[in-house]
Amino acid sequence: MSMEDRDGYIWVDGELVNWRDAKVHVLSYTFMHGAGFFEGVRVYNGASGPAVFRLQDHTRRFFDSAKILQMKMPFREEEIEQAQIATVSANGLKQCYIRPLGYYDGQMVGLPAQGNGVHVAVAVWEFDDILGKDAKNDGIRVKTSSFSRHHINAAMSKAKANGQYINSMLAINEVKAAGYTDALLLDSHGYVAECTTSNIFMVRDGIISTPEKTAILEGITRDTVMTFAAERGMELKERNITRDELYCADELFVTGTAVEITPIVELDNRVIGDGRPGEVVKTFQKMFNDIVMGHVEDKRGWLTPVK
Ligand code: PMP
Repeated sequence: MSMEDRDGYIWVDGELVNWRDAKVHVLSYTFMHGAGFFEGVRVYNGASGPAVFRLQDHTRRFFDSAKILQMKMPFREEEIEQAQIATVSANGLKQCYIRPLGYYDGQMVGLPAQGNGVHVAVAVWEFDDILGKDAKNDGIRVKTSSFSRHHINAAMSKAKANGQYINSMLAINEVKAAGYTDALLLDSHGYVAECTTSNIFMVRDGIISTPEKTAILEGITRDTVMTFAAERGMELKERNITRDELYCADELFVTGTAVEITPIVELDNRVIGDGRPGEVVKTFQKMFNDIVMGHVEDKRGWLTPVK
C-alpha cells in the first residue's frame, strides 16, 4: 500500500493532520541536501496493553541527532514523547512502528542551513518484518558490502540523519541483487562496523563481542542486549573486530528496532557455527520478547503505556 495514500493522521508541528495532507515542498532544504533526522520506535501490544519500547531513549537520540546537525528543535523532549503517544492513539494502532522526523523547510536557497525553519512530524504504521517473517527463527544470509561506512570525521554516525542512509541504501541494494538479506559494512579502517539498519554481535568461546561506538549508530537494541548480558553475568567486550573473526564465530546476530534480535547463519558464503541460531542469541531473543510482550516485570522502566 502506498505510504502517501492512506487513511489516518500524522502529527505535524503540534497538530494531527490528515495523512494525505502531510506534505513538504520540493525545495525544502532537507529534500535537496539530506539534512534531516529521524527515529524508528516500536509499540508492542503486550500483556498490559500497547506500550512504547524505550520511548525516552529514542526521543533522547532524536534530540541528540538535532544537536549534532545544529537543527534547533522547536519542541521539548516531553512534547515529542507525548506527540508519539498521541499519534499512536489517534490512529487506533496497538502494535506499530513510530517514525518521528525532523526536517528543514525551504525558506532559503544555498548551502548554509541557517534561516530555514525546523519542523517535526510523527507518523505511525503497522509493522512488517523487514527481513522476512522467518528471519528471527531461521537466521539470515549476509554479505559484506563493497561500500564502507564513512570515516568518523565525515559521517556523524551518532546522528540518525537522513543523508547517512544513502550509504546503507547502496549497500543493501548491492547485496539484495546478489540474493542476500542484508549487508555488513566495514569502517574506513577495515574493521567491522554494522549492518544497514542494525548493530552486529559475535560470540566465540562464550565471549560476546561487538564493535566499539566509533563508526556506528549507537543502537538502543544494542544497549538492550548489553544490559541483558550484564544482568546475566555474561562476558561482553566492545572492541575492534575483523571480518575473518566473524567467519570463525560460534554465533553472529544483529540488533535493531526493526530486526529486533536476528541471527546471522551465513556470512560471505561461510556457514556460521553449525548454521543454526545458537543458544546465546536464543537467550537474548527470549529475554527481549518477555520484556516487550509484558511477560516479565518491566523493572528497568522501558515500557511507556499508550492510553
Ligand atoms: N545502525 C543503523 C545504521 C540503524 O539504522 C539502526 C536502526 N535504528 C541501528 C543501527 C539499530 O539501532 P536501534 O537498535 O536503536 O534501532
